[in-house]
Amino acid sequence: MRHDDSQQFASDNYSGICPEAWAAMEMANRGHAPAYGEDVWTQRAADAFRTRFETECDVFFAFNGTAANALALAALCQSYHSVICADSAHVETDECGAPEFFSNGSKLLTVRTEGGKLTPEAIRGLAQNRNDIHFPRPRVVTITQPTETGQVYSLAELQALSATCRELGLALHMDGSRFANACASLGCSPADMTWRVGVDVLCFGGTKNGMHAGEAVVFFDRKLAEDFGYRCKQAGQLASKMRFLAAPWVGMLESGAWLRNAVHGNACARLFAEAVSGLPGVRTLFPVEANAVFLTLPPATMDGLRARGWRFYTFIGGGARFMFAWDARPERVEQLIGDLRALSAEAA
Ligand SMILES: *Cc1c(COP(=O)(O)O)cnc(C)c1O
Repeated sequence: MRHDDSQQFASDNYSGICPEAWAAMEMANRGHAPAYGEDVWTQRAADAFRTRFETECDVFFAFNGTAANALALAALCQSYHSVICADSAHVETDECGAPEFFSNGSKLLTVRTEGGKLTPEAIRGLAQNRNDIHFPRPRVVTITQPTETGQVYSLAELQALSATCRELGLALHMDGSRFANACASLGCSPADMTWRVGVDVLCFGGTKNGMHAGEAVVFFDRKLAEDFGYRCKQAGQLASKMRFLAAPWVGMLESGAWLRNAVHGNACARLFAEAVSGLPGVRTLFPVEANAVFLTLPPATMDGLRARGWRFYTFIGGGARFMFAWDARPERVEQLIGDLRALSAEAA
């Protein structure tokens, strides 16, 4: 692959497919295989999850995170229930109402948060605020690990959240579109961050982790997975050539690429944040705990970066967002740092 200057840090899904995922797809492409998940790749991918998570669990493969989240939440709710989430949660701000749609109307109840983290107090406040027949009954808590702005819940925080959920009779769902980055950040096992702290259902993101597409819905409480296959099919999420959604997971999980990729993204984010945080007019908005860096920048500096060809978003988290994927090239990160250094010196 020829390296050019097209690499951007606007989003981690600007990246391509990592070699391990690609190789597994290439292997899966050598001949025919049964359709709709009856193939050996799908079996092997589900087994790889069970091995990696050190437990029996039920695994389903969806095309993207919106579908995975929406269908997982729908499986946890009746239409008259409600789901507690952070105000910045992807399910609230970026899924076009899919969770409400697929649950036939379960309401999302949002909490104002710093950095997208829910707390036991916030959950208790919302869950106990109303218990009359006129209010949709709280049934699920959904958390994003790491959050949309790149903060990571510690194991103790997760434990406290799940204890509150148990006490209040709420199920706990984790949106792990960047789950691997959180594991890399905490240095803990996938099991430690999920079922061992009481997570009932996890949506594990493959796309941002280095795959072409795909999210796995992992049910640790296997009773909740009953009929989930029908839900996926009805929602248009049952791939007929399922092996191409499943095989990259085999490549990722069996080779360890899922974690290596995340370690690399996180390291690039840290390198970038450390290099630019002292520059005049530049401030990091949130602690850098995963692969995201949010900066407040003077308007002239933002214009200057864009004039030099850099792309970044400003509509998430209220600053300029930079995301570092599995394939972030250190030279390219250095270029961005150099441009930011030059522009902030001009602005000062
Ligand atoms: C990217 C992302 C998703 C999944 O988005 P899709 O575009 O539907 O794949 C889900 N949650 C969070 C927090 C995300 O950043």
